[in-house]
Amino acid sequence: METKIMDAKSGLSFAASLIQSGQLVAFPTETVYGLGANALDADACRDIFLAKGRPADNPLIVHIPHRENVDEMISTPLSELVNQLLEAYWPGPLTIVVPASGVVPLVVRGGLDTVAIRCPDHPVAQALMELSARPIAAPSANRSGRPSPTTAEDVYEDLMGRIPLILDAGCTVFGLESTVVDVTRDPPVLLRPGAITRQQLEEFLGPVVLADNGTTARAPGMKYRHYAPSAPVWWWNTSDVEELRTRWDALEKHSGRPYALLASQETQRALRPALFYNLGDNDRTVAQNMFHGLRTLDRYHPAAIIVCWAQSSGLGEAILNRLRKAAELGDAGDVDGN
Ligand code: AMP
Ligand code: MG
Repeated sequence: METKIMDAKSGLSFAASLIQSGQLVAFPTETVYGLGANALDADACRDIFLAKGRPADNPLIVHIPHRENVDEMISTPLSELVNQLLEAYWPGPLTIVVPASGVVPLVVRGGLDTVAIRCPDHPVAQALMELSARPIAAPSANRSGRPSPTTAEDVYEDLMGRIPLILDAGCTVFGLESTVVDVTRDPPVLLRPGAITRQQLEEFLGPVVLADNGTTARAPGMKYRHYAPSAPVWWWNTSDVEELRTRWDALEKHSGRPYALLASQETQRALRPALFYNLGDNDRTVAQNMFHGLRTLDRYHPAAIIVCWAQSSGLGEAILNRLRKAAELGDAGDVDGN
C-alpha cells in the first residue's frame, strides 16, 4: 500500500472519507500523532492493532469532539468532581478511564469493561472528527515499542506501506502522550503521567495514586516495552555540568561508534559530542523534544544515546515515566549502561 503524506488542510476531506470507509489515518493532536479509525467500527479498529503490531489486550483511547459525547459511551454518569475536571481541562491532553456502556466495541477496549476517552485540543483532530462525524479510536502512530511520533516524518518512518494517509501539521506542541487517569477507582489512579500533572488532577479529585505494578492489570499498556530506539539509552540524572564532564570523559571511546548526546546546549558546549540533539533547558521543551531527539540520534547508530536531564517541575513526572521506559529502568535512579 502506498502511504501518502498530505498537508493537513488539503488532505482533510480525503482523510474523513477514509475514516468513514473503515480505513486508517494518522493525524496530529496536541500530544503526539495518532493512528485513527472509526471507534465504532470493530474491523477498522482491529487494523490499528495490526498496523502497529500492538498486543490485543492493550486498549485504545477513543477521541471525541465534545464533552457531551461521553454520555453515550458510559454505563454510569460521571461524578460532579470528574465533570468539573473535564470542564477545566477538555479539550486538552487528559484521558479518563470510565465504565463502558457497550457502544464502543470490545476490541477497542482490549476486552475490558472500561473505556478510555479524550477530547483533543488540536484543530486538525477536531476537524477530522467533525467532518467524518465519527468518534476516532487512536493510539500513538508508532510501531509498538518505539518512541511516539511528534512529526509526520516520524510516523512515515514507522508505518510506511501500512496505512494510506498521514496528515501533516508540523511538530506537536506537548510531545508526550496524554495524562491517563482511571476514575472508576477510589482513590483515582494515575495510569500514565502527562502534561496535566498529578497536582492539577488532585485539585479536583482529591488524592490520586500513581499506578504501580499492583495496578498493571488495570492498565494493560503499562507492562509492554515502550519508547525504545535501537541504540541503548542511558540516563544521567544531573544538570551539574562538572559531573557530566567527568562522566563523559570516563566513557570508553574506542568502540568505533560515537556516543550521542541528548541534552541542553549548555551541556553540549561542555562535552563537545560528535552527535547531539538539543533537548532544551526546561521541562516543557524537554517533553517536546525527547521522542524526536531519540529517533533522530538513533538514525546514526550510536554506541548509546546519553540523556542528560534532572527533574525540575510537575511535568517532570511525565518525562521521567517515558525516560525510565526508554532506558528500560526499574525503580532505580540513573544508569550509565555499565
Ligand atoms: P497509546 O494511545 O498507545 O499512547 O496508549 C493508550 C494508553 O491508555 C495505554 O497505556 C493503555 O493501556 C491505556 N488505556 C486505554 N484504555 C484503557 C482502559 N480501558 N483501562 C486502562 N487503561 C487504558
Ligand atoms: Mg503509544
